[in-house]
Amino acid sequence: MPRSFVQEARRRVGPKKARVGPIVERLATERADAAIALRFRSPLELLVSVMLSAQTTDVNVNRVTQRLFEKYRRPEDYLAVPQEELERDVFATGFYRQKAKALRGTMQRLLEEFDGEVPRRLEELTRLPGVARKTANVVASELGETQGIVVDTHVRRLSQRLGFTRQEDPVKIERDLVRLVPRADWGRFPHLLIWHGRRVCDARRPRCEDCVVQDLCPSSRV
Ligand code: SF4
Repeated sequence: MPRSFVQEARRRVGPKKARVGPIVERLATERADAAIALRFRSPLELLVSVMLSAQTTDVNVNRVTQRLFEKYRRPEDYLAVPQEELERDVFATGFYRQKAKALRGTMQRLLEEFDGEVPRRLEELTRLPGVARKTANVVASELGETQGIVVDTHVRRLSQRLGFTRQEDPVKIERDLVRLVPRADWGRFPHLLIWHGRRVCDARRPRCEDCVVQDLCPSSRV
């Protein structure tokens, strides 16, 4: 888009500080139950599900974990089988070698440093092998200890389109978002953007004509 159009679009919708509240409220009204699609019954199952969800869909992870969680109930269970067996059990989520290795490393550290419990603080979660900031943010947030904003591909795209950030790097995007989004909304904000990104604000073909925040979006094509 030429620069003059971008500036004109930004003027039309107004400052981001004034828009973020109404955008969150409208998306929340439209999708009151926007939440994580992964199925889990405990903090440990949550952690494993999020670790397995890299590069695959939540539906696929749920299919795999349905059986996995019957067999592996405690951190010790992941260490009691040979690496190859765990690889077979997570094979269908893709990148099974790295994932099995990360799971075993994480279980080892949970036992050694956290009495087998999943920690709640980001700085502790990111010490677990294979747990990057995004995974840690998702886990902490789902456990009611939100300390940041999850930035995945949808959150990145929508934050850019909505004019909330000009950054590309997820860490810098998160830094912009935590300054802008009220702290009370940090947990639901990514769920709402992910849900909207999947259904309306598609990467290739955003359906701006059906979008409830169209009049607040500088990238609207309507
Ligand atoms: S108006 Fe279009 S680009 Fe903006 S958020 Fe809605 S669908 Fe996405």
